[in-house]
Amino acid sequence: MKVTVLVPAAGSGTRMGKGIKKQFLLLDGRPVLAHTLHIFESIKEVSEIIPIVPQDELEHCLEDCVECQSLKKVRRVVPGGHQRQDSVYNGLKSVDPDTDVVMVHDGVRPFVTQELVEELLKALTTCDGAILAVPAKDTLKEVTKDGMVRKTLDRKICYQVQTPQAFRYHALMRAFEKAYADGFYGTDEASLVERYGGKVKVVMGSYSNIKITTPEDMVMAEALLKKEAQRKDTGRRA
Ligand code: C5P
Repeated sequence: MKVTVLVPAAGSGTRMGKGIKKQFLLLDGRPVLAHTLHIFESIKEVSEIIPIVPQDELEHCLEDCVECQSLKKVRRVVPGGHQRQDSVYNGLKSVDPDTDVVMVHDGVRPFVTQELVEELLKALTTCDGAILAVPAKDTLKEVTKDGMVRKTLDRKICYQVQTPQAFRYHALMRAFEKAYADGFYGTDEASLVERYGGKVKVVMGSYSNIKITTPEDMVMAEALLKKEAQRKDTGRRA
């Protein structure tokens, strides 16, 4: 089975409020995107990784996140588009058509694990798509544009969705083509597949699989990295 991972990292990162885009901020001396790419490089089920980055960062990404990190599974870097969906579509159009499974994973989620990826691939054998999600911890409310509560959602059935999201290649391609034909934009890939009538299964994600968006997330990311290093160290000594 050929698995290709698309890693959208072409956002402007404006919520981080720094001069440098969040996917290129240094975490333990290495760009956030490089951490993410390294994880997929080490997962044996993954054949190819395609990072998608801003057009004006193509060279910088190749140098700092691919070549100097010795990533063998990255054979091309693709320019992103206006919205996240456009970026992912640019990547999807460059995927080899003999690919069986396409996974999409945010470049700014550097704490995905081999176990989560394996669970997704297992789930995908019985459906068109499989996504990671965690039960919502907070109560969620639907709010109008003028800031008034419209309704309170039932927390017991609400999940926060993460990436990776995994799909059969042809199901994802059809869903994207249909979305563009209809002028539909979604905030994740699963919403496109759901719209097209595809079956999407939810797999339990991890609260550590954070998306780095605001400065507080960098503090959390540093803490998670330290915890991971301690865990490895304890494992080595045992
Ligand atoms: O917009 P958000 O923070 O949810 O972005 C999730 C991921 O999608 C990030 O890794 C970001 O760089 C990427 N993205 C993209 N192209 C865009 C916008 C966001 O690849 N136009």
